[in-house]
Amino acid sequence: MTAAVPVPKHWYNAAADLPELYEPYIDPATGRELPADSLTELFAGELVEQELDRDTRLRPIPEEVQARYALWRPTPLLRATALEKAIGTRCKIFYKYEGISPIGSHKANSGVAQAYYSRRDGRKRVFSETGAGQWGSAISMGSSFVGLDAEVFMVGSSYDAKPSRRILMETFGAKVHRSPSPLTEVGRVARKPDENDPGSLGLAIGEAVEAARADREAAYALGSAFNFVCLHQTVIGQELRAQLDAAGLRPDALISCIGGGSSYAGLVFPFLDQVERPGRKLDLVAVESNAVPKVTKGKFAYDHGDSAKLTPLIKMYTLGHEFAAPGIHSGGLRYHGLSGQVSKALHLGLGRAVAYSQLEIFRAATLFARTEGLIPAPEAAHSIAATIELAREHRDEERVLVFCLTGHGFFDLSAYQRYNQGQMDDSDSPSAAIEASLGQLPAVGNPGTSGASEDPFNAWQRWHFGAPRPSASGAVGTDLRGYRVVSERLVREASQGGAGDLLVARDAVITPAAESEARDLGRKLVRGGDR
Ligand SMILES: *Cc1c(COP(=O)(O)O)cnc(C)c1O
Repeated sequence: MTAAVPVPKHWYNAAADLPELYEPYIDPATGRELPADSLTELFAGELVEQELDRDTRLRPIPEEVQARYALWRPTPLLRATALEKAIGTRCKIFYKYEGISPIGSHKANSGVAQAYYSRRDGRKRVFSETGAGQWGSAISMGSSFVGLDAEVFMVGSSYDAKPSRRILMETFGAKVHRSPSPLTEVGRVARKPDENDPGSLGLAIGEAVEAARADREAAYALGSAFNFVCLHQTVIGQELRAQLDAAGLRPDALISCIGGGSSYAGLVFPFLDQVERPGRKLDLVAVESNAVPKVTKGKFAYDHGDSAKLTPLIKMYTLGHEFAAPGIHSGGLRYHGLSGQVSKALHLGLGRAVAYSQLEIFRAATLFARTEGLIPAPEAAHSIAATIELAREHRDEERVLVFCLTGHGFFDLSAYQRYNQGQMDDSDSPSAAIEASLGQLPAVGNPGTSGASEDPFNAWQRWHFGAPRPSASGAVGTDLRGYRVVSERLVREASQGGAGDLLVARDAVITPAAESEARDLGRKLVRGGDR
């Protein structure tokens, strides 16, 4: 039932319609809002703007990215009639199939966009992490499209268990490191007690961030949770809306699983205006694993995005950054936190969360495979379990239920083998571990010892690395030598302070937009000076 709908030409920024979705990131060293320029160090200027944007409803998708999307978009909307029959429900079950992308999941939607912006920003390399290997595949493919080198830190246990995902990334030209690796301080510390440490996503994030920080020509990329990743995924919901409209259908429930929350955001954000409608409310269902129950058992609080505490504090549903997720077969759902925007929406009552165990989701996946012929990724099987339960609950009503089938399970067959042979353990909520890690949430505004007059970026840098940026003293003109990336915004802000040259570090990356901004403002960018 795939109606021919156009691929969206814009991404939808829900924060423009719902400003309350936006919660500022907090600098752990100062307790104050994180300055934009500390994000520019890691991300292309355009991505930082997307991250912080509360005004622009629709952001145009660059033509080059649109051309890549056209390789697999629009993705099909399919009806699961055989599944409906097997359940014995009058509900109509549809699924939006994102597994059709070249790498087999929705992550491609952001992978091509992040690689494109990083390259255009003048970066030569991108560092990232991957758990199950889905995001690593996406950023590797996106990077190969634009001629960017990609280096991926892959969680050790996945690296050992999933060589096929590693080979896929390497075929795209990426370098894949088993994490924890000897290449970073974060990795070396973790390897001390055990060189074969199985690693974790939090650790791999720490390694990728550290590597990107140390390399002036590099950017960092991540596969979920951040606002710009959620933004890129809104092509899913926009297309779905057009497809349902074309079929004369109105959804009663939208369902997706939540790892960092990007597919859920992409599916439901374009429908937020329909939640409180006359007649039946639109039911938005976020599905998590009962082994990583950040919404159903966690807290809505400021927390770090990684266990190395290299990221700023994000207000979100979290199990605590020290939470060590149990080893379930849904690698993409093992993250301790959740997108700030998705968290806020759920906190406001725009949507609800449910949790399922590992055996429950494999039972649902197997029923889906046998009726519809498609083997889902274990992450997506969470959505199937929730959809089946809704369809049973409302078996006598003609409700329209739509779930996002985020990816196929062809790289997860060993998990299916385990299930088929009756050897799979069920998962449980690790209550004691959750209580312990929730006790480690940071005391916002209190972790550092910085004086009130210190530049927040310096304080943040010092808190992590003990090395402050050089001060402006002794320089002629405005000293920007402490910045490894000179962005358009930085030039604009620095130019407000007066006239004269803008002094930048000898090896700083000056973005093309920054260069033209300086020209427009009549300021000269002068490289040089010792750091
Ligand atoms: C990464 C992943 C997820 C979870 O990530 P979100 O950002 O929450 O969407 C779900 N399904 C698949 C197939 C994935 O690769």
